[in-house]
Amino acid sequence: MPKLELLEKYAKLIVEVGANVQKDQLLVVNTSTDTRELTRLIVKAGYNAGAKSVHVMWNDPYVARSAYEGKSIEELEVVHEWEISKAKYFVENNACIISITSPVPGLNKGVDPIKLQKAGIAQMKALGFARDHMMGNHTQWCVVAAPNKVWAKKVFPDFKDDKAVEALWSAILSASRVTETNDPIKEWDEHNKRLISHNKKLTDFQFDTLHFTNSLGTNLTVKLVENHIWSGGQELATNGNVFNPNIPTEENFTMPYKLGVNGKVVATKPLNYQGNLIENFWLEFKDGKVINYDAKKEVETLKNLLELDAGSSYLGEVAMISYDSPINNTGILFLNTLFDENASCHLALGRAYPMNVKGGTTMSPDELEAIGYNQSMAHSDFMFGSKDMQVEGTQKDGTKIVIFKDGDYVI
Ligand code: ZN
Ligand code: ZN
Repeated sequence: MPKLELLEKYAKLIVEVGANVQKDQLLVVNTSTDTRELTRLIVKAGYNAGAKSVHVMWNDPYVARSAYEGKSIEELEVVHEWEISKAKYFVENNACIISITSPVPGLNKGVDPIKLQKAGIAQMKALGFARDHMMGNHTQWCVVAAPNKVWAKKVFPDFKDDKAVEALWSAILSASRVTETNDPIKEWDEHNKRLISHNKKLTDFQFDTLHFTNSLGTNLTVKLVENHIWSGGQELATNGNVFNPNIPTEENFTMPYKLGVNGKVVATKPLNYQGNLIENFWLEFKDGKVINYDAKKEVETLKNLLELDAGSSYLGEVAMISYDSPINNTGILFLNTLFDENASCHLALGRAYPMNVKGGTTMSPDELEAIGYNQSMAHSDFMFGSKDMQVEGTQKDGTKIVIFKDGDYVI
């Protein structure tokens, strides 16, 4: 376990830069029983920042697994009225949200995937409005991570339990730019400035398509929606407050045109979906839809993701990150999207972010669909960046500009 002061710095960064909790605002903390210490520090930092009330929503992954095993499908599909009311209350009262992820890899191995799927669909149907509110940036929200023993042992299999947890803590903190000697809040200020200047450059180009190629067999053309906006780093919520949705983050990302993705993409890191690890997979797209795919491991899980709903076999995000990124340079495979997605270029299957198009956060679902936005219950990022990744952008008038050469920005 890192020193208390280091964790306090991390908690303060999450509250002040991540969620940017305002005076007299409600704060919701979604967390796991595996991450009690950080949760307590975040609650404290939340009150220090002036939160009126902090609500902690505990989740225990082992209890959840027992429920998947013990409950019938019908029972798993029940979402109680009081759960919906609670979510409504937070939406209507402008609560900001901090989510601490602490995934337990492989925990759901052996659980009937249909149960996972049906429970997920029922939850999204009943509580999707709260997710829409958050993903539409109508309030400040921030996703961060904290280790648990199982996750730490997966990342550092050669270390004993406590040593593995310690090693994962130190990897998480350094990836999040929290060190013993620095001022992480000041450091994030500068980091945000760099990301924002890249966003501006890419948005100004207004590329019609991006063409990704590498020696692994990726040869993919991604058309972008018109008037797209590149995001990454600090965002502005429609309630007027800035925030950082992810700590850490290294990416610049935007919205693909739903029906304009063609070619093949080969993943370069495993994808953790519903507690299962999909490994060595590729996807082939035609007019936006995945028409062919395979995986060395967990191909069934990949199938479940692609068949979750009408939008989960289409893309909702395209993101560029230098291969020479601080997270990639650690050489650690975190087995967690929050970190691994920041190691290299990635795509997301499933829904897009409305903020990635001009005026998107105030468009109706129909208006969004009309401009080529992908709607889905899924949003699963997978990595395909490599050391030899080439990216070429083509503008509307046919002008071609090389954006990435040998895995790195050249613009
Ligand atoms: Zn992303
Ligand atoms: Zn994403």
